[in-house]
Amino acid sequence: MSFEEQREQMVLEQLLARGLTDERLLAAFRKVPRHRFVPPELEAQAYTDHPLPIGAGQTISQPYMVALMTSRLVLQGHERVLEIGAGSGYQAAILAELALEVFSVERIPELLRAAAERLGALGYLNVHFTAGNGSLGWAAHAPYDAIVVTAAAPEIPEPLLAQLADGGTMVLPIGPPEGQMLVEARKRHGTVTQREIASCVFVPLLGRYGWT
Ligand code: SAH
Repeated sequence: MSFEEQREQMVLEQLLARGLTDERLLAAFRKVPRHRFVPPELEAQAYTDHPLPIGAGQTISQPYMVALMTSRLVLQGHERVLEIGAGSGYQAAILAELALEVFSVERIPELLRAAAERLGALGYLNVHFTAGNGSLGWAAHAPYDAIVVTAAAPEIPEPLLAQLADGGTMVLPIGPPEGQMLVEARKRHGTVTQREIASCVFVPLLGRYGWT
């Protein structure tokens, strides 16, 4: 099967069949070449229903998890989005398809460099990367209409809440390294409400406001 056919199968069996039906969301997953975001020796597994190692002890999330998190942001195309934990850059590419601008923070410089090169090679001009401790957010470009954190924190990092625009939505895994709850937080007129989405397992968010 070609990569394109594998991608279509991923969309039908892993996303659509599990209730993710938004056409713009599905179009983004049909378009972004996930096999370009994994190490060459894992290319053949790129479209399987699993997270995969990307080096430096980190992982690219399972396609369904990326889609589930992204779906909760309900992006329409005009948003400025902050991602914490660029990793491979795959989620950043999906976000770039659905929003106006993406800002992504990664603490491991070699992962950041590889992600930036990939997105450059694929022609994405609306993704901006920086190296650093993402639990502090990226204050220079705040506020953000949407924030997605792809590593698990003990609780919602205060700086991220502060950088979320009024009317904005944040999605993040909350809990210890063994297992977490995916949480959606919305800020409306200054008040934050939280909703639990699903249990999940992410690598820990390190640094201040993360796990030390
Ligand atoms: N969104 C990624 C998945 C990345 S896994 C993808 O699509 O491939 C989580 C990433 O969070 C790892 O790369 C890890 O290095 C990073 N991370 C962990 N703690 C961090 C922190 N405090 N600041 C920034 N990045 C962090």
